[in-house]
Amino acid sequence: MAQGSAKIRIAHAEPLGQGARLLRLERVDGAELGFAGGQYVIINTGITLPGGKLAKRAYSLISSDAEQRAVEIAVKRIGAGPGSNVLNDVAVGAELEWSGPWGKLRLPPGFSGRALAIATDTGITAALGIARGAAAAGAAQLDLLWLVESDDYFVSEAFVRERLPPALRLTVAGGFLPVGHPERAERACALAADRLAAGPYDAVLCAGDGAVIYPVRDRLAALGAPEGSVLLESFFNNPMKKSL
Ligand SMILES: Cc1cc2nc3c(=O)[nH]c(=O)nc-3n(C[C@H](O)[C@H](O)[C@H](O)COP(=O)(O)OP(=O)(O)OC[C@H]3O[C@@H](n4cnc5c(N)ncnc54)[C@H](O)[C@@H]3O)c2cc1C
Repeated sequence: MAQGSAKIRIAHAEPLGQGARLLRLERVDGAELGFAGGQYVIINTGITLPGGKLAKRAYSLISSDAEQRAVEIAVKRIGAGPGSNVLNDVAVGAELEWSGPWGKLRLPPGFSGRALAIATDTGITAALGIARGAAAAGAAQLDLLWLVESDDYFVSEAFVRERLPPALRLTVAGGFLPVGHPERAERACALAADRLAAGPYDAVLCAGDGAVIYPVRDRLAALGAPEGSVLLESFFNNPMKKSL
């Protein structure tokens, strides 16, 4: 299935704790999405922002890429943010527009090596997609490190474990420093370096807080991770995007 925009229907929704929601989405025309684990879609919330632009927001697919017609996303409510509030409140059966799949945070087709996924915060969604895609392909070995403030920050650790392939090694650095903490990047670099030492890894994939994952990539490169072997997907605090 080619990339492009399409109408989607909210086929199912359920709350995830106090401030997040799991949504199952299907294309209205019944077509397959054609995504690989780790990729995301961009949803047009239909909300017009003060500057006149429509609020379109990215969400990583957490369901296995073995199933291409019904896909799942998990959305954390962020303050009064337009995208996350629409998706936490939209009715089952409602239709929205999306485009995708997008993103290069994915294992190459046929990858059979050992990979490390590092997720911060909501970045666990992309890591789940990667892990489930790797399991469906039946080849890659994957270790996953998740840095998260608390078990009720977003999806719970139990939610993640239920969806992970049994052979995958998940390490949760719970009680991690909150978003914006000045020592966050340094702490993450130290944890990532410890994990790297348990390698070797053929690929490292990082998702979540841009203020953390860019320094992590630089630290891993300094420790000898091969050039181009560390892939990044910044969900927020993207240092490449200067103030909007
Ligand atoms: C590739 C990609 C994949 C993403 N996947 C997911 C996903 O699976 N689940 C999900 O909930 N979100 C995900 N996001 C974030 C999502 O796109 C929106 O930024 C988020 O829902 C907030 O949108 P909003 O319109 O409600 O608020 P906005 O008004 O757009 O956001 C307010 C501010 O909060 C920042 N922000 C976004 N997320 C966080 C966070 N966790 N902690 C602190 N600040 C944050 C935004 O960058 C912005 O500066 C992803 C982002 C990208 C780029």
